[in-house]
Amino acid sequence: MISFASGQAAWSSLHKDICIIIGESKEPDHSYYAVMRKKQVDDLVIHLINQRYLSAYVYRCGNCKSEIDSSIDQTCAICGWVICSSCGTCKSKKCESKGFLLGSPNGIF
Ligand SMILES: [Zn+2]
Ligand SMILES: [Zn+2]
Repeated sequence: MISFASGQAAWSSLHKDICIIIGESKEPDHSYYAVMRKKQVDDLVIHLINQRYLSAYVYRCGNCKSEIDSSIDQTCAICGWVICSSCGTCKSKKCESKGFLLGSPNGIF
């Protein structure tokens, strides 16, 4: 069974959108808390999403066309896009804040 780490980008088939995992839920289990940006109003929403709706976010790098997989590649703590392991690009064009930063026990990721 696939598991997700805090700070990892994932795809929610329930919301048809990319989200950032912020933690695992014990009650109910097999669920994760994930933050997502609402499309029109620009608010951030925290959802509790059952694991069955979550999958790795896989797409092609806009810069070098390599495959990017959020379960393997690092998610950028600033823009929330997955960093291409071939060319190092995160959000194509410009890395900019998605409105929050991801913290870790050591500070910012
Ligand atoms: Zn690339
Ligand atoms: Zn970035």
